[in-house]
Amino acid sequence: MLSVVLLEYTRDPQKLVASAAKLCYSDKKVADLNAGISAESASKFVDMLSEMGHESPMEHVSFTFGIDGISRACMAQITRHRIASFSVQSQRYVKASEFEFVMPPAIEMNEEAKAEFCEAIENARKSYEKLFDILEKAQKEKLLTDGVSEEKAGPMAQKLAIEDARYVLPNACETKLIVTMNARELKHFFLLRCCNRAQWEIRGVAFRMLKLAKQAAPELFKNAGPGCVSGVCKEGRMSCGKAEQMRKIYLHDLDNT
Ligand SMILES: Cc1cc2nc3c(=O)[nH]c(=O)nc-3n(C[C@H](O)[C@H](O)[C@H](O)COP(=O)(O)OP(=O)(O)OC[C@H]3O[C@@H](n4cnc5c(N)ncnc54)[C@H](O)[C@@H]3O)c2cc1C
Repeated sequence: MLSVVLLEYTRDPQKLVASAAKLCYSDKKVADLNAGISAESASKFVDMLSEMGHESPMEHVSFTFGIDGISRACMAQITRHRIASFSVQSQRYVKASEFEFVMPPAIEMNEEAKAEFCEAIENARKSYEKLFDILEKAQKEKLLTDGVSEEKAGPMAQKLAIEDARYVLPNACETKLIVTMNARELKHFFLLRCCNRAQWEIRGVAFRMLKLAKQAAPELFKNAGPGCVSGVCKEGRMSCGKAEQMRKIYLHDLDNT
C-alpha cells in the first residue's frame, strides 16, 4: 500500500532561501545577514522570489521523502527526474518470491480484467520461483566445478539466480525508494506530475509529496502544483480544461483533499 513520508528537510528552509537571495545584493557578512531575517520577512521574501521567478536560491534547501508501495512502473517515471537523488530497493539482492504488487484501480473495478491480472501475477510468481531454482542449481554446479568452496558457492549462486530470475517480474511489482530533491526541482516535479495529464499513480505520489512539503514550508510551495495553478495551462489541446477546479484544490483545499 502506498505510503509517502517526509523523512528530513533543511532546517528553517524559508529563512535559508531568503538569506541566499539577500546575499546577492548585500554587503553584510553572511552570518549577520542570516541573523537579521525574521520568519515573517523570510516568508515575504520567498513570496517575492516566486513572483519574480528568481528560483536559484531555492536550490539550497532540500526535502527527503520515503516512498513505500509504488509499482516499478511508477518508479521508472519518478527516476526520470534527473535533479534528484534516489535510493531504490534492489531486485538484485532482495529475493522477490512473495512480492507485493500494485493493481490499477481500473483493473480492480473490472471483474474480468482483475481475473486476468491476478492470473498473470500468479504466473510471474511461479516462473520467478522456477527460474530461481533452475539457475541456482546450474550456477552452483558451475561455481563448484570452477573450484569455489561449497560454503561460498551457495550464497553466490543464490545471488546470481536472483539477478536473472527477476527478468520475469512484472511492472506491477511494489518497490520502495528514498528521494531527495531541492525545492526548485520539487516545484518543477509538482508542475509536471500533479497535472491531470500525468499518470494516476505518480500523480498520487506527487500530490502526497506536495502536501507534506507545503506543511513544512508553506511560502516556498504557496503556488506549487500543476502549471495552471500559478499561471495558464501549457498543455494546449491536451489540456484537461479543469484549471478552476485545480486552483481550488491546490490553493485552498489541499489539507482537506
Ligand atoms: C504527462 C507526461 C508524459 C510523459 N511521457 C513520456 C514518454 O512518452 N516518453 C518519455 O521518454 N518520457 C515521458 N515523460 C517524461 C518526460 O519526458 C521527462 O523525462 C520527465 O518528466 C522529467 O522531466 P524533466 O526532464 O523536465 O525534469 P528533470 O530531469 O527533473 O530536470 C529538471 C529540468 O532541468 C533541466 N535539465 C535537466 N537535465 C538537463 C539536461 N541534460 N540538459 C538540459 N537541461 C536539463 C531541464 O530544464 C529540466 O526541465 C512524460 C512526462 C509527463 C509529465
